[in-house]
This record gives sequence, C-alpha cells and structure tokens, in this order.
Amino acid sequence: MGKLHVKAAVIGAGLAGLVAARELCREGHQVVVFERANDVGGTWLYDPRIESDPLGLDPGRNIVHASMHRSLRVNLPRQLMGFSDYQFLKKGCGDPRSFPGHEEVLRFLRGFMEDSGLIELIRFGHEVVRVERAVEGRRDQWAVEWRTCGGEEVAGVEVFEAVVVCNGKYTQPKIAEFPGRSTWQGEQLHSHNYRVPEPYKDKIVLIIGRGVSASEIAQDILPFAREVHQASRETNLEVVKLRKVPGVFQHPMIAWADEDGRLVFQDESSIYRYHFPFLKTEGLVNVDDNRVGPLYKHVFPPSLAPWLSFIGIPYLTFPAQLSELQSRWVAKVLSGELVLPSDEEMMSSVQEHYQHIEELGWPKRFTHRLEQGKFEYEKWLVDQLGLPSMEQRSEKMVLILSELFKFRQFADEHWRDNLDVEKLMQENQAKSLN
Ligand code: FAD
Repeated sequence: MGKLHVKAAVIGAGLAGLVAARELCREGHQVVVFERANDVGGTWLYDPRIESDPLGLDPGRNIVHASMHRSLRVNLPRQLMGFSDYQFLKKGCGDPRSFPGHEEVLRFLRGFMEDSGLIELIRFGHEVVRVERAVEGRRDQWAVEWRTCGGEEVAGVEVFEAVVVCNGKYTQPKIAEFPGRSTWQGEQLHSHNYRVPEPYKDKIVLIIGRGVSASEIAQDILPFAREVHQASRETNLEVVKLRKVPGVFQHPMIAWADEDGRLVFQDESSIYRYHFPFLKTEGLVNVDDNRVGPLYKHVFPPSLAPWLSFIGIPYLTFPAQLSELQSRWVAKVLSGELVLPSDEEMMSSVQEHYQHIEELGWPKRFTHRLEQGKFEYEKWLVDQLGLPSMEQRSEKMVLILSELFKFRQFADEHWRDNLDVEKLMQENQAKSLN
C-alpha cells in the first residue's frame, strides 16, 4: 500500500511547529501552520512588554507569549540545540558564542524556516480559537476555527484530517501559593513577566524557586537590588549547590506572609501550566494538575490517534532533538509507514507510565518530566524510527551533558564563557570511539 498524504493543521510556529511542519512536508502531507504572532520563534521572539496582570492570574489579561528576559543567554551549548541535519552553527553576522544570547536562537529559527522552504506554509497573525471534531464519531475530521489578530478581524473555519498541537508550554504561569500571599502588600510578579533588572534598584527582592530561570534572574537583579533572597522547596543538595548564586541569601520555602510585609520561611515544581484553550474534545483530553492526558508516549490521545497529536510536551530534555523525533514519528504514523498499537494497548501503556510516576514518588504534575540524563524516551523514539545515527548522537549528548553539569557545579556565573565546548565535544568523541 502506498503512503497516505493527509491535510494537516499545525498550531504554532515556534521551534516545535517549524520542525513538525518540515517533517510532515517531507512525508508528503499537505500542511498549514497557524501562527498567532507576525513572526516565527515563539519563546525566542523577545517581547519587552509585560502582561497587565504580572502574576498571570487574571484570565482576561493581555497575553504576551514569550518569557524571555533581556539578558537571557541559552543554557545548552548551541551544538546541542540544532536539528539532526540543520545545526545551530556560528554564522558570520550573529552572536558566535557557544552559549549565545536569545536573539541568536531567533536568527537560527528564521534561517531554518527559510532554508526548509516553510514560509509559504505559515499563516502569520492567525490565532486558532477552536479545534473540535467536525463529524461526530470520526477522528479524522477536525474543524479548525481561526481569527486574525491586529487590524481588521477576519475569521474562518476549515476542516483538516489531522491537527498537530505545538502551542508551547511557557506562557501560562503557575504561581507558588502560600498562606497570606493574596493580602501581602509587596509587589508580586511571575518570572514570565520579568524582563529587565532596573526597576528593582534598591529593593529587597525574594525569588521563589531554584530552577535555571530563578537563579539567572537572581543573578541579573543582584547588581541593582539592595538584597536578593531565594526560597525553594528543593531538597536535592546537588541542585541546591549547582544553582546557588553567590551573594544571594538562601532560604527554605515560605510558610506564610504577614500583611505587614514580613515573610516566614518553611522548608517548587513546574512554574508553568499546560494550556489548550482552543481544544474541545468532550473530555477525551484533559489537563489535570498539569498532567495532559491520556497521551500515549506524551504525543497521541489514544481515542483520537493519530489524528490529534502534541509536540514538545515533555521537559528536562533537548527541546530541538525531542521535537524533531516526535514530529517525525507523527508524520510517519499519519502516512501509514509506522503503525500505532491498538487504543487499548496505548491506554495500558499510559497507565503503566502513571504507575511509574507514582513509584518514583513524583506527584501527578511531574507526568511529563523526563528522568534527567537517562534519555530513555528519546531512545525509544529513535528506535521506533529506526535511526541508528541519531542513537549515536543521543549517546554523545548524554556524555556531554553530564560533563556540562559537572563543570557548572564548580564554576562561577561566568561558566558559559569559561567552558570550551568544542574541546569537550572532541574529548567525548574520542571516548565514544574507544
Ligand atoms: P513556543 O516557542 O512557545 O512556540 C509556540 C508558538 O505557538 C508561538 O509562536 C505562539 O505564538 C503559537 N501559538 C500559541 N497558541 C496559538 C494559537 N492559539 N494559535 C496560533 N498560534 C499559537 N531550550 C533550549 O534548547 N535551550 C535553552 O537555553 C532554553 N532556554 C529557555 C529559557 C526560557 C526562559 C524558556 C521559557 C524556555 C527555554 N528553552 C530552551 C525551551 C524552549 O521553550 C524550547 O527550546 C522551544 O523554543 C519551545 O518551542 P515550542 O515551539 O514548543 O513553543
């Protein structure tokens, strides 16, 4: 039997949407990409504006998609941020560092779009407002309703056989709750709305969390603020050591806040929420305590597979490699080259995964967190796709990543500039050849 070629809608033209579009096209599918913004890049499209509610609690606030602060530099070396056949190379006119500023990632993604011939597939300034099955009982007929953003509003509904959701996961803030937060008189803001340090001049600032962003923002604010404090529930000493910023006072988590401004510390988790406001599936796909489910291998809801899929849901991974592998898998399943298990088998795999999360002692909201440094999920995808060369690439990435973590543990805030990534890669190349 020949390959099937389907009409697919991709929602979002960030990194995931771009690579999904490329993989779907390569497999011969007919693709339309809907992008709310007027440019590609998603997260990497720096926007100096902040939202009308800096905590992101008001559902009616103006939404700003990107979470980047002005001085942000990547935290993975560019050598690990490219696609398998389109590397994130140092080009003449950009930022040549191994850990460049955010603008360089945007240049890379624009280049990827142009060189892959994707531009004519993208409808910029088109927000998808509803995705729903067009015919009751059928999984391969989806109504996609869109409207234009800015200027004169135009709206429409089109029917697609497949929908690939790539709307990103870093826009809907999830805030750290503690007793007294809502009546506390200080200024409160989610990192999604942090851009520049100047407004914190001479202030006492408390940062909640010990993720990469929290520690980097602490470092960014330190030269301006009177004092910077950091509180978190993190108990893993390795992480605490790794993300400790010299000069920042460290605390356990806040127990409560007094109205007079005093904060009492106690001894975090994901700071964003998955959010698919356009998706109407009559309960077949839900977000419950940050678990998007049920999703077979974080991609396909069994009862709607393969016609509805999600790219880029898991975290603690290499986003470019993961999105590429997932997209290729979706493209090949849609064309019939690869076959999914039955709905029942997919559901029992989902249940097994939930069981595994429980056994790890992880809460439900960690469902899409990958076990750091293991790359089992990525290897599973590589295996499905029969890609031995990518398997080698994953192995190399594991080695480099563990070296990178070791280096960061003992380094100061200039670690990005002090690490010779090329040398590290050559040493690991030699190791993996031996
Ligand atoms: P996004 O980039 O968020 O793109 C989603 C797109 O969907 C957007 O363009 C948006 O406008 C569009 N969209 C959303 N809803 C709709 C709708 N209804 N209709 C139409 N369009 C819609 N990764 C790294 O590899 N290295 C790093 O150093 C790194 N640092 C990071 C630092 C921060 C602060 C953050 C937040 C993330 C970082 N990441 C990093 C991860 C980064 O998010 C991923 O690399 C990647 O950019 C995610 O791409 P995406 O396409 O999944 O989502």
